[in-house]
Amino acid sequence: MDLRAFIRDVPDFPKPGVLFKDIMPLLGDPAAFGFAVAELAGHYPAGGIDVIAAAEARGFLFAAPMALALKKPLVPLRKPGKLPGETHSFKYDLEYGSAELHVHADAIRPGARVLVVDDVLATGGTMAAACKLIELAGGSVVGCAFLIELAFLNGRAPLVGYDIFSLLTY
Ligand code: AMP
Repeated sequence: MDLRAFIRDVPDFPKPGVLFKDIMPLLGDPAAFGFAVAELAGHYPAGGIDVIAAAEARGFLFAAPMALALKKPLVPLRKPGKLPGETHSFKYDLEYGSAELHVHADAIRPGARVLVVDDVLATGGTMAAACKLIELAGGSVVGCAFLIELAFLNGRAPLVGYDIFSLLTY
């Protein structure tokens, strides 16, 4: 199935100069969405993963069905003020300002093998922060999975050393 037909290019969103990859047409087509999730999950053989994690918000859309497909626990990485329990957190720089991700302190067992999922790999900053947070929480990142990789943004640079898989590369 040609998944590219379900990704809509939106120029100059959310700001001038950005070519936004809109995944809403994919989410709106159960056959295409199911195919994408099966292809992503199918890349990871049973046995090598203990936990699936994702940063909010769009990473959740793929991590949740992948966790069900692979029968693994799902660990959401959330923005500040969202998780009710004790958390580990990691602050990182954005183009303008900074952001912070949190994870429940009891969500990752020491040495747990974690697959981190997101919809788009752009500059890699979000995924690098997610991986740092997982490691801070005691886990070991065994893979980073993306629906889309924007190769021209060189998002693999901050992720050197991690195993990266993306379904669609632009
Ligand atoms: P980055 O930290 O630069 O790799 O950005 C990754 C996050 O920003 C992903 O979670 C995406 O949801 C979002 N994102 C960045 N650039 C784009 C884009 N061109 N189209 C769609 N989403 C994007």
